Amino acid sequence: MESLEAALKEAKKPRQIAVEIDESAGFCPGVRRAIQVAEEAMRSGARVAVLGELIHNRREVERLRSLGLEVIEDEQLDRNSQRACRLLIRTHGLPLAVRERLERDGFEILDGTCPVVQRSQKLVRQFAARGYQVLIVGKPNHAEVVALIGQAPDAARAVLDPEGVGELDPSRPVFVLAQSTVDPSRFRAVLEQVRAIHPRVEFRDTTCRAVTGRYEALRRFASEHDVVIFVGGKNSSNTSQLFRICQSVNPRSYWVESPEEISEDWLLDAERVGVSGSASTPYWQLEEVARYIQIKAQPLGEYKEVTSNG
Ligand code: SF4
Repeated sequence: MESLEAALKEAKKPRQIAVEIDESAGFCPGVRRAIQVAEEAMRSGARVAVLGELIHNRREVERLRSLGLEVIEDEQLDRNSQRACRLLIRTHGLPLAVRERLERDGFEILDGTCPVVQRSQKLVRQFAARGYQVLIVGKPNHAEVVALIGQAPDAARAVLDPEGVGELDPSRPVFVLAQSTVDPSRFRAVLEQVRAIHPRVEFRDTTCRAVTGRYEALRRFASEHDVVIFVGGKNSSNTSQLFRICQSVNPRSYWVESPEEISEDWLLDAERVGVSGSASTPYWQLEEVARYIQIKAQPLGEYKEVTSNG
């Protein structure tokens, strides 16, 4: 009898949803640093502008704009009105020639280039100066790749896959490195192809550990939850890449930019909901989504009546 009463009491409780935020999610060190540089400069009263979108997260960009950050495109730079601002270089960096032109034009530069990317830029310059052909594994139009090629435009080019390696100059050695967020397996596939056709190859795996180190942790996180809500900008390739990993492990994974996009149907029967995001997702957006789910969970609570037929 005692156990029936306990069962009835238990059954009358609304269904609880445990919501957990992925502790490995949130800004990577490079993005955190660039935003700090921007915020400190704005706090000092300076007029600050960033060349292009600082990060691929629309709502965080809006927040920074509301604090005064201006976003300008390269073609606007000759306008005299822009010269009074301090110009922030984003984490992807800039081609050498562009940076030198800006300095010549008298802009005060705030360098938000991620230190990981700065190291890769230095490698491109060093190996090009030693006569190497430099292959950068990554998308040719990715801003970081454009900036890397721009360290030594006569020696460097982008390669996205083994087929793209094409012909190499047999008289010059080859140096292979990676755009920071490229999939390491893609980097290895290109490297193997280069080694198969050229006898003198050096390489550095310059993929960023802040991103690649997350793959395994994210797979584990996704498999431990009934539903995963992945938060991040729809224009972010890093977010897209991490979301695909999540989805491959847990088909009940959903990608949102803001909490209002969450459908109650997604949470049906879920007991453990995980909230994760990419390197360009600020922690406040993860917390906002977690709070929203907790509030939404209550109306979904079901009361399972347990009856005794004797
Ligand atoms: S992902 Fe890595 S390389 Fe890119 S900004 Fe973040 S820390 Fe730097």
